[in-house]
Amino acid sequence: MFQRILVANRGEIALRVIRACKEMGIETVAIFSEADRGAYYLSLADEAYCIGPAAATDSYLLINRIISAAEIGNVQAIHPGYGFLSENAHFAEVCRSCDIEFIGPSHEAMQKLGDKVSAKEIARQAKVPLVPGSDGLINSESEAVAVADRIGYPVLIKATAGGGGKGMRVATDPASLQAGLKAAAVEAEKAFKNSGVYLEKYIERPRHVEVQILADHHGNAFHLWERDCSLQRRHQKLVEESPSSTLPKSVREELCKAAVRLVKAADYTNAGTVEFIVDQDDNYYFIEVNARIQVEHPVSELVTGIDLVQSQIRVSAGEKLPFKQSEIPCRGAAIEVRINAEDPAQGFRGSPGTITQLRLPGGPGVRFDSHVYQGYTIGPNYDSLIGKLIVHRPTREAAIACLQRALDEFMVEGIKTTIPLLRKISRLEAFRNGQVDTTFIERVLLPTMTQPEREHDR
Ligand code: ADP
Ligand code: ADP
Ligand code: MG
Repeated sequence: MFQRILVANRGEIALRVIRACKEMGIETVAIFSEADRGAYYLSLADEAYCIGPAAATDSYLLINRIISAAEIGNVQAIHPGYGFLSENAHFAEVCRSCDIEFIGPSHEAMQKLGDKVSAKEIARQAKVPLVPGSDGLINSESEAVAVADRIGYPVLIKATAGGGGKGMRVATDPASLQAGLKAAAVEAEKAFKNSGVYLEKYIERPRHVEVQILADHHGNAFHLWERDCSLQRRHQKLVEESPSSTLPKSVREELCKAAVRLVKAADYTNAGTVEFIVDQDDNYYFIEVNARIQVEHPVSELVTGIDLVQSQIRVSAGEKLPFKQSEIPCRGAAIEVRINAEDPAQGFRGSPGTITQLRLPGGPGVRFDSHVYQGYTIGPNYDSLIGKLIVHRPTREAAIACLQRALDEFMVEGIKTTIPLLRKISRLEAFRNGQVDTTFIERVLLPTMTQPEREHDR
């Protein structure tokens, strides 16, 4: 086992990885930008190095500085967390060429599955159902128009390097398709330095269902069941749960098996997520693989009892996963809500500031993963996630009741957050009945909420 690991990330996921290491008796080296000086996760690490100014492009995204910190800190492995360099195959390759284990898949597997167009090709070969769309990247406007004519409007323009909901445009006719192609390519070039885009049929009111995967270097690849992440805003998840409350048993089993087939076909190892959208007739279609730990991994940890971050570390150290597929349970129901520092009055723009008061929920069934505390100042530099509230109860109904009371206990002052919106969601009949889809929040919920209600619901 490793004696020392560098955590190449910040915020709640850096803390999550450090906690896993502590429980395993592994020392940690943390890194930070000037904006994160004094952050809580740094005090829990055994060593910490400043790697540059606030801008991520000058710090958390600089491979050479992170490798230098790893050399000085004398670590055997690097955990990349999510976001930043976590899906950068070049980074994974550089780590290994420096004899530092990258805690994630091989760079070859990451390259194959991290690029969406290439992942879809592997899925096609593995007989995993795909959303109808272009065969690969779109090379010209006329090609896009021909594909859209074949599959029918509306279509979705997507960036092959996309992530975090960026670089996506819906087109309803040839004119909006032409405009959308340009806009998506520009956005993708800016965000991912890769302007490649492809087309998919836009599935109306789908559910987002994804499968957690864990695979070792001994030929084992398992699924840890599914998560439903249908409640989204601008293609960004807000609420995630396991198990799905709506999938028929046979579809659920097929979907989980399809995900395992796909990762096996790519020789994928470590933790990963295979994402699908499910239409109103319960047909499922593969959309992408996230070749890393995900924000919403705790819901799968709670229903399976498997620590995903510790498992990632063990797999990277060469250990064999100590269970069989039939021994992975899915017990009770778990729900996660993302608490973001966002201002609903400003179109949910990030709401930096100091947390002047903080009272956290607790009691049975409640887990809170967060790097913030009373007095913490959220800067303008990074994403707006300030914490994840996760509940686990024997039934979905009990989990929702637990979520409602935990959100009611939650008090944050000094900044605007998504808590009022989450409280509202937790009480909606449509949510309780499982009748939501990826467009629900923007199509149904937000238009019915008045401005004061978005900010305070009590
Ligand atoms: P998850 O399902 O884990 O929430 P997201 O796609 O929402 O996955 O991404 C998690 C985090 O990683 C977010 O902070 C998001 O902005 C960031 N992220 C995801 N993909 C990319 C990417 N390709 N480039 C940069 N950041 C990304
Ligand atoms: P990202 O890498 O940004 O996470 P995804 O391909 O996972 O991109 O898509 C993000 C979200 O966009 C999905 O969860 C879903 O809500 C929506 N989406 C993606 N593809 C389609 C599609 N073909 N039809 C309808 N919605 C889609
Ligand atoms: Mg996705």
